Amino acid sequence: MSSIIIDGKAIGEKIRKEIKIDVERLIERGCRPGLAVVLVGEDQASRTYVSNKEKSSKAVGMKSELVVLPITVSQKELLDTVNRLNEDPTIHGILVQLPLPPHIDENKVIQSISPKKDVDGFHPENVGKMIIGQTSFVSCTPSGIMELLEQTGTEISGKHAVIVGRSNIVGKPMGQLLLQKDATVTYCHSKTEHLEDFTRQADILIVAIGHAKYITADHIKEGATVIDVGMNRDENGKLCGDVDFETVKEKAYAITPVPGGVGPMTVTMLLRNTLKSAQFTCSNYI
Ligand code: NDP
Repeated sequence: MSSIIIDGKAIGEKIRKEIKIDVERLIERGCRPGLAVVLVGEDQASRTYVSNKEKSSKAVGMKSELVVLPITVSQKELLDTVNRLNEDPTIHGILVQLPLPPHIDENKVIQSISPKKDVDGFHPENVGKMIIGQTSFVSCTPSGIMELLEQTGTEISGKHAVIVGRSNIVGKPMGQLLLQKDATVTYCHSKTEHLEDFTRQADILIVAIGHAKYITADHIKEGATVIDVGMNRDENGKLCGDVDFETVKEKAYAITPVPGGVGPMTVTMLLRNTLKSAQFTCSNYI
């Protein structure tokens, strides 16, 4: 059996077209959505992510502000920058690219972002609201995965969803979103014994661990839907996921590729959150 390849690139592009139309409508009413991205240091991977976010926000017609700070920036200077953006009425979304250098307290920085502009959905107020099912900004990668599952007609209610990885930005919120859609959720992590005993039970398997091709066909139940969040380099330096795509695709019902699966959805959800923030703020004065 060969599986359905979930085309995150195409689904993301379709949603971005809709976002662009909504941005144009807002601009006609005198309100241009604005996204600010703060980058500390010169890390190559972070630079690539940031430039992708900048390009994507401009492509849908948003204002894009990139603030690059040196790796030696003090915590106070970084917090002052966030505060300035919190106060800027032309900015509706603020994102501080992680990871930050070790001398900076990441939690303090996340908490300094106004929850109303926290388009990454990392602020504790938004995380708490998401868990109790109130409207909030939801972390972009898990909400992008929910969109992929929805757009491909994946049944969630009553299904067993197994999440491998429990990070605050992917694994934990992912499980909560699936729980809200009535899945039975199991979390696995680096201390889980006999991982395959759990993954083989999964109707929906989400993998976010950061180990190239770690999940093989032996970990999969025949007919499962497999979502690969990982972004790694293989032995030839080629981009690959946490799932061994070539073998798993023969057993799964549906699977996301890397690249072209989850990645494009993460950026798309960032744009959607920024649009949502602008729609809310601007409706207060238009
Ligand atoms: P983290 O490093 O923060 O978390 C990794 C998680 O995986 C931890 O919970 C860890 O367990 C668990 N883990 C590690 N090794 C194993 C193992 N052998 N078996 C089971 N669990 C394991 O990573 P992130 O969540 O930030 O990212 C995960 C991957 O997803 C990375 O490759 C990252 O690049 C990618 N990513 C992709 C995005 C996209 O848009 N496509 C967005 C965000 C991330 P423990 O808690 O016990 O340490």
